[in-house]
Amino acid sequence: MSVIYNRVALIGLGLIAGSMALAMRRRGLAAEVTGYARTAATRDTARRINLVDRVCDTAVEAVKDADLVVLCVPVGAMGAVAQEIAPHLKPGATVSDVGSVKRAVIDAVQPHMPANVHFVPAHPLAGTEHSGPESGFATLFDNRWCLIVPAEGASPQAVAQLQALWQGMGANVDQMDADHHDLVLAVTSHTPHLIAYTMVGVADDLRRVTDSEVIKYSAAGFRDFTRIAASDPTMWRDVFLTNKDATLEILGRFTEELFALQRAIRQGDGDLLFDYFTRTRAIRRGIIEAGQDTDAPDFGRAKKDG
Ligand code: NAP
Repeated sequence: MSVIYNRVALIGLGLIAGSMALAMRRRGLAAEVTGYARTAATRDTARRINLVDRVCDTAVEAVKDADLVVLCVPVGAMGAVAQEIAPHLKPGATVSDVGSVKRAVIDAVQPHMPANVHFVPAHPLAGTEHSGPESGFATLFDNRWCLIVPAEGASPQAVAQLQALWQGMGANVDQMDADHHDLVLAVTSHTPHLIAYTMVGVADDLRRVTDSEVIKYSAAGFRDFTRIAASDPTMWRDVFLTNKDATLEILGRFTEELFALQRAIRQGDGDLLFDYFTRTRAIRRGIIEAGQDTDAPDFGRAKKDG
């Protein structure tokens, strides 16, 4: 594949930026990739493992002459980073991000963007529960979706170029409106994470009763919850602080359904439970048929949605 951007700057050097750097290198999609992380420790690690072509000590230095700048920091940090780099962006450059919430990132970043820069937000629906520069891998985005959320009036050429980059990194690309994105992700990712955090918290509360049994006998269901609940606390704190309305809406619906199932269990309503579980099983089959997960016993889970 040929070069899509001459110089790409990654701000933040964690799981997503690291995977982008390796995925770009795999196909030669950028002539040079620069990177910056806020702590010296992360920058040193990135240098040691040769994650990008050049690790810079400031964000300003990293974005100099970059044709594409991708903000790969927690959602709550996007605004401050955008403000810092804004005066140093190359005219005509594209700025994008990988944040898990889109409306809040747009509201935080857009006001800082100079008129001669294209801001094209995006969100790859791929991740793992690991974080940091050493957790990245080149195949993370293969056959996963990346949602691009262009603002009204965004340059079609800038959007097409970013789309080509994500496709080059292995992803399938769709475009979506920011509010719709946040609602869809509240259903598919954010609320499920909250439920996993809660379930693991409940098990932890029971620890005194069950002691090591919770771990020793943890069957697939609970083990899957613990993996999700091991996700980065900063990232997920920011997701819930910034996708508040959609998450609360879905959580409200979830609670209603949970009460309905709770009542069915109390009343011994086997038909309701059976019909409910039949419907949910069909959804699982649909996900496998769409190629978004495997039927393997461990759910084939090196990756998960982010
Ligand atoms: P990560 O591995 O924890 O890396 C985060 C990076 O951001 C690190 O380089 C960190 O620098 C930097 N950072 C943290 N707080 C910062 C702050 N206040 N100011 C400036 N830089 C800061 O995180 P990640 O998983 O790559 O996530 C990055 C973004 O991708 C997030 O917006 C997240 O919502 C989104 N995302 C994540 C997933 C997923 O599953 N993980 C999936 C899709 C999208 P130091 O190491 O120097 O602290």
